[in-house]
This record gives sequence, C-alpha cells and structure tokens, in this order.
Amino acid sequence: MVVMKFGGSSVKDADAMRRVADIVRRGQDRGRGSLVVVSAMSRVTDQLIHAAALAANGAEPDVTPMVDGLGARHRQVAASVALPARQPGLISELDADWREVTQLLHALAILRDLSPRSLDAIVAAGEIASSRILTAALQAVGVSAIWVDPRRALVTDEEHGAAQPDMAATRERMDEEVQPHLAAGRLPVLGGFIGATKRGVTSTLGRGGSDYSASIFGAALGAAEIQIWTDVDGMLTADPRVVPGTRSVPNLSFAEASELAYFGAKVLHPSTIAPAVAAGIPVRILNSHRQEAPGTTIVASPPPASTPLTALACKRDVTVIDITSSRMLMAHGFLRRLFEVFERYRTAVDVVTTSEVSVSVTVDDTRHLDAILAALGEFAEVTSEREMALLCAVGERLRIDPSLSMQILGALEGFPLRMVSQAGARRNVTVVLPQEHLAAAMAQVHDRFCTLQQEAAHA
Ligand code: ADP
Ligand code: ASP
Ligand code: MG
Repeated sequence: MVVMKFGGSSVKDADAMRRVADIVRRGQDRGRGSLVVVSAMSRVTDQLIHAAALAANGAEPDVTPMVDGLGARHRQVAASVALPARQPGLISELDADWREVTQLLHALAILRDLSPRSLDAIVAAGEIASSRILTAALQAVGVSAIWVDPRRALVTDEEHGAAQPDMAATRERMDEEVQPHLAAGRLPVLGGFIGATKRGVTSTLGRGGSDYSASIFGAALGAAEIQIWTDVDGMLTADPRVVPGTRSVPNLSFAEASELAYFGAKVLHPSTIAPAVAAGIPVRILNSHRQEAPGTTIVASPPPASTPLTALACKRDVTVIDITSSRMLMAHGFLRRLFEVFERYRTAVDVVTTSEVSVSVTVDDTRHLDAILAALGEFAEVTSEREMALLCAVGERLRIDPSLSMQILGALEGFPLRMVSQAGARRNVTVVLPQEHLAAAMAQVHDRFCTLQQEAAHA
C-alpha cells in the first residue's frame, strides 16, 4: 500500500479537491491500496493562529468574522464537491466543528491566555475540516473512502506545538483504527499535522507537519511508498522564490533530503525522512497540478547526481550569537555550560563554529533571545546580530571530492561570509551571511554547481 499526502495548496478550493480525488482514484484503479493524509486548505492554519492570538489579546470582535469566513469557505467547497445526498450531513459536521472553534476562541478571550496546548486544539480544526471534505470528494468519484480521526491514530508526547510521535503506541492504534478499513478494501483519509497525547489531548507536530504525519503512518503500516503531493515538480535545486531557473532533482538520498529540509527547503518537513529511513520506505515528491511530472524520488542510495551539487537550501531571519571568553582557553566544561543555556530555553542551534576563545552559533527561534543573551552574559562576552541568512549547499559529492567545498567558497568570494561550516565526511557546506546578500549568493552557487549546462561545460 501507498501513503498519499496532499498539502494545503493541493486542496485549496473545490477544483483542487476534485483534482486530488482524481489522482487518488487513478491510483486505486491501478489496484494499489492507499491511505490519504491531507493538510488544511491553504492559509487556514495561518488564519486560525492569527484568530487565536487576537482572541487572547482581547480583540474578540475581530475574530468572529474570521471564523465565519472560514466556515463559509469550507461550506462552499463541501457543497461543490460532495454528492447531494452527503451534503447536509457533511455541512452539519463542519458547522459543529467551527462552532467548537468559536467556543474555544471565546474561552481564550476570557482567559486572555494562549498556551501551546490551547492553540493546538484550535489549529486542529483546519485538518479536521479539509479531511472531512476530501473524504466526501473521494466518495463522489466512487472511491470507498472513510474518514478517520487522526487524534485516534497518532499518539504523541505532550510537547504541544512540536509534538513527537510515540511510534509503538501509534502502531497499535493504527492496527485498531486503520488496518481493518484497509483489509476491507476501504481507503482511510486522515488529517495530517495533528494527533493526541496518551491522555487524548489534541497535539500538533509543528508547522508543515502533515508531511511528518504521512511518514509516521507509512512507517507504522509498512507502506511501499510515501508520496508527498505538492505544488512544485519535486525537490527543486533551490527555493524557486529565491533563485530563478531552478529544476527538479530526480533523485535524492535520505541524508541529502534531511539536510535540505532541515536547512530550509520548505517542500518537506524536516522530520519527514526519519520514520521513512527507519522503515526503509522510499519517499516521492510529486506535483498535484502536473501528475505527469516525474517528481523526486528519495531512497537510501540513489544514482549519482548529474551536477556537482545536488541542491541548495536557505533560511532567512537567522540570528548569529557570538560568545567570547578568555576563560574558554584551555578550559573544559565551557561548551557544556554554553549549550545548557540553549537547552534551558528549548532553543535549537543550527550552525556552530568555534575557535580557541569564541563560539558562534545561529538560531532561528528568537522567542527567548533576551533571556539567552543574559544567561550567556553571566560567564562570557556576548553579542548578537539579526537579519542574517543561512545558505546550505548539499550533495553526496561533497563527501568524495574535498576540492568541491573550496570551489564553493571560491564562488562566494566577495560576499561577507559571517560563518562557514563543513563537518568532515558530511554532505553539506553551510555559510551564514547578511540577509541582503542571500539571493545573489544563492544565484552564484546555483549557476556554478547546480545547472546541467555548467556540468556539460566542465566535462
Ligand atoms: P504544501 O502545501 O504542499 O505542503 P509547501 O508550501 O509546504 O507545500 O511546500 C512547497 C513549497 O516549498 C513550494 O511551493 C516552494 O515555493 C517551496 N520550496 C522551498 N524550497 C524548495 C525546494 N528546494 N524545492 C521545492 N520547493 C521548495
Ligand atoms: N496545516 C499545517 C500548516 O500549515 C500543516 C501542514 O500544512 O503540513 O503548518
Ligand atoms: Mg508543507
């Protein structure tokens, strides 16, 4: 069986829903059992987060029209894609869900408090609604689809907003809640991104987390393939919004895909690859608007790339923190003390460079920056700089050809590089530079190392 995941832009309106139903039906016609995972319709999660923030700040009058608008949008799509006989039932289910969201928002407005746990309860509505509608759209084209509540299938820890799956518990639930449908020839449809804790409290896997859900379900079911259907032709050689003239990468290794996702290639949630790797399941990225495009296939050992670098990723709005201490000289325990600060404030560090007396790190989560700087300041001199960007060049060839990283840095001559990082035997070279130089630097490296014409010229 195959897990098919459709992102928000693939279900953004009635036409998109019908297109997805057609893709799934064709898969069924080829005799493959499937499970479908779907994101909220595009922009819905953003709007729910915004509404929750407004409510918690006491701006409740602005919230009501937002939720009414969301309800109306979903009702309209439902009425367009569901069979007439199914419409009244579907619309009343959706309306009940939106009423619950209104009540939750009202509670936030009274409490003037927004915890990650309450936010999860609210944003979950997006995936619940889109999955109900997609189920009806599939039934309308003759697929025996059945809606399954992901909160009964995906068991997570209690880290609301960035929950991690409990794979053993999830596997058990899948055996109970999903396998019987598959065995009976039905196609389960689940909202991605959301699950519930062991105690049954709604949780979410972090933004873009539906990819992760697909991979978790695929691993739990031993799927033959996990398909991530999106709005581009696969993993592109760079973020198309930053670099012109990108192309789709036909093959990626699991390791390359993880690096790219972690360092900013938004097409894949950074955790997606882990469950697939553990279960050895290929992941394919496909375009729901161009079914005929071959997309990207991610496996453990793909054929070698035809260009020196496989692809680039980038992250904007990165903050560099420089920590200097003469006490670091010859002292042990300094790095432990330093990283304990980041651990205490649950802030992930992306890139680290060290010298004898100083350490530089980058973070993209600045919610606790002031507290972190103060804590570091207790034992070192600390400065920070915002509006930096991270450029990450990825390719298996970096492991084999030591001159390649030098060539990349050569191509970036003249750019004010703030940090450079390459670990031995790794597949990436990462540089940090002021944000205003990112697009030019990306274009430069992309032109030299990611385009096929360049490869022909090198040969
Ligand atoms: P979905 O709604 O399907 O989950 P996302 O918006 O999360 O889609 O991810 C797809 C988008 O990721 C693309 O439209 C593209 O703009 C962006 N993107 C950034 N980097 C890359 C990359 N290297 N390859 C493909 N897409 C990328
Ligand atoms: N709807 C969620 C988000 O926007 C999850 C996803 O789209 O994967 O982050
Ligand atoms: Mg996504």
